[in-house]
Amino acid sequence: MATRQPLIAGNWKMNLNHFEAIALVQKIAFSLPEKYYAKVEVAVLPPFTDIRSVQTLVDGDKLLLKYGAQDLSPHDSGAYTGDVSGPMLAKLGCSYVTVGHSERREYHHEDDAVVNKKVKAALKHGITPIFCLGERVEVRDAGGHVEHCTEQLVAGLKGLSAEQVRGVVIAYEPVWAIGTGKVASSADAQEVCAALRAKLAELHGEDVASAVRVLYGGSVKSGNIGELIAQKDVDGALVGGASLDADEFTKLCALA
Ligand code: PEP
Repeated sequence: MATRQPLIAGNWKMNLNHFEAIALVQKIAFSLPEKYYAKVEVAVLPPFTDIRSVQTLVDGDKLLLKYGAQDLSPHDSGAYTGDVSGPMLAKLGCSYVTVGHSERREYHHEDDAVVNKKVKAALKHGITPIFCLGERVEVRDAGGHVEHCTEQLVAGLKGLSAEQVRGVVIAYEPVWAIGTGKVASSADAQEVCAALRAKLAELHGEDVASAVRVLYGGSVKSGNIGELIAQKDVDGALVGGASLDADEFTKLCALA
């Protein structure tokens, strides 16, 4: 049975310019002692325009904090105006990239097929995809959340080998909990995270399923992280709003 190191990843969304990014990373570095990172992995996911500044700070001060991006193109290069590719992010030292976030699915019409290509693009360039999935409120109200999430999982991982799946982080993010202050109960989070792990076991075996980290995301704060992460199949959190406040984010990390 693999031991999974918890991961707390801060999704800054479209917030903070590169000066503000430097200030936030400095505060996080000041508040989380080096020894902390042996226990929990911490990553920040700033907007593209901030990544170079974050890289400079992390490399210059040899910080143990990881960083990454919020999206990537399925293509390596070419006539795709406005897009940013895996090779570009890899060159900037990105460890992680979110793929399939509900805001990308909703505002950029990204479907499961696009998400699948992006997961593959990230892996191809040595970046760990944080593959987000989750149900809308009407799906949950109708009781179809587990089926919906496992279907998204299967579609997003289509065509990947067991070894590739081992290198993916899954983030269960119920759409109704993102940015709403309505956190899923720890039992609800555990139910879906356990079902996702069971599906991974069915597809790729127990060994892979027990190695893959499954995060919960949706209104996570210092006040609720303890109960969420205590669940057997919840291996950390994807944190939006609370990751923009250094005190709150580091408090949350310390409690993880
Ligand atoms: C997110 O953007 O992935 C997220 C979980 O946001 P929030 O924590 O603000 O709900």
